[in-house]
Amino acid sequence: MRIGIDIGGSHIGVGLVDSNGNIVKLQEKYIKEKKVNSTAEFIAQEIVTILTTWKNEEKIVFSKIGIGAPGIVRNNEVISSVNLGLNNFKIEEEIKKYFPTAQIKVANDAKCAALAEKRWGSLKEYEDCIFLCLGTGIGGAAFYNGRLIKPERCAGFEFGHMIIEKNGRLCNCGSNGCYEQYGSMRKFKSVIKERMGIDKSIDGGELRSIIRNNIDTDVVKNTIEEYIKYVCIGLTNLVNILEPQVICLGGGFVKYKDILLNKLVNEFRNSKNLFYKENIPEIVIANFGNDAGIIGSTLLFD
Ligand SMILES: [Zn+2]
Repeated sequence: MRIGIDIGGSHIGVGLVDSNGNIVKLQEKYIKEKKVNSTAEFIAQEIVTILTTWKNEEKIVFSKIGIGAPGIVRNNEVISSVNLGLNNFKIEEEIKKYFPTAQIKVANDAKCAALAEKRWGSLKEYEDCIFLCLGTGIGGAAFYNGRLIKPERCAGFEFGHMIIEKNGRLCNCGSNGCYEQYGSMRKFKSVIKERMGIDKSIDGGELRSIIRNNIDTDVVKNTIEEYIKYVCIGLTNLVNILEPQVICLGGGFVKYKDILLNKLVNEFRNSKNLFYKENIPEIVIANFGNDAGIIGSTLLFD
C-alpha cells in the first residue's frame, strides 16, 4: 500500500491507500493548531510523527509516499505556496531524513486530486476534461485525449490566478483581480460572513446551516448570485480555451453543492459568454470530495 498526503490550505491529511484507491487509514491535522515557528516546520513534523507511529507501533509497511501541496511544485520541492506562505520548502528532503528508503514524490495538490478523479472518480469516462478545485484558493488541471497536460516549465493551469477583474481585489500572488479572489470558497465564506455580521471563527457546518436557514433573504440571495456570476466568468473562459467535455468541481465547494450547484449550472448553461454554444460541457461534482488529494498523490508513481 502507498501513503498519500494532502497538504491543504487549512489541514494536512495523511492516508494509507490501497491499489483500488480506497483510503484504509486516515489521520488529519489542522494547520491552525501549529505551535512551532514556521508552517513548513509544522507540516514536516506532523507528517513524520504520524508516519513514524504507523510504521513503528502499527507495523504498517510502506515504500511510496505521494504528497500533494498547494502552489508551485518543482523537483519535489514546494517553490512557493502563496496561501500557506511557503517558499523553497524542501519537503521531500525533510521526510527522507526519517524514511530514507521510501520513494517520495511531490506535486501540486489540485493535479493530484485531478488524477484521482480521472482514474476512479467523476472524470473516468471522459477524454478531454477540466478539474477545478474551489477551496481556499482555486487550483486545477486539464486532460486532453485522456492524459494530464504537463508543461515543461512548471505545472501550469493556475486557473485561480487568471485575471477576471481589471484593478480588482489584491491577490496573495501580488496580482489584482485574480479568479480566486472572487470564486474561491474562502472568499465566498468571508464575504457572506461579513455581510451577515457572522463571527469569523464559526465552523463550516454552522455557517452552512445559517445560509440554508436564510436562503430567501436578500443578503444571502445577492451574495450567492454575485459569487455564481464570478465562478461562471472563470468557467466560460476555461471552456472557451480548452473546450472540455466536462468540468469537475472539487474542493470545499462540494460541501455547498445543495446551496450552489443548481444555480451555477443554470447560470453556466445560459451564459452568453460561451463561444461555442452547442453541446455545452457538463458540470459534475468531484467523487472523492476532500479525499481526492490523498488518493491522487499515490498515483504520482504510476
Ligand atoms: Zn493571484
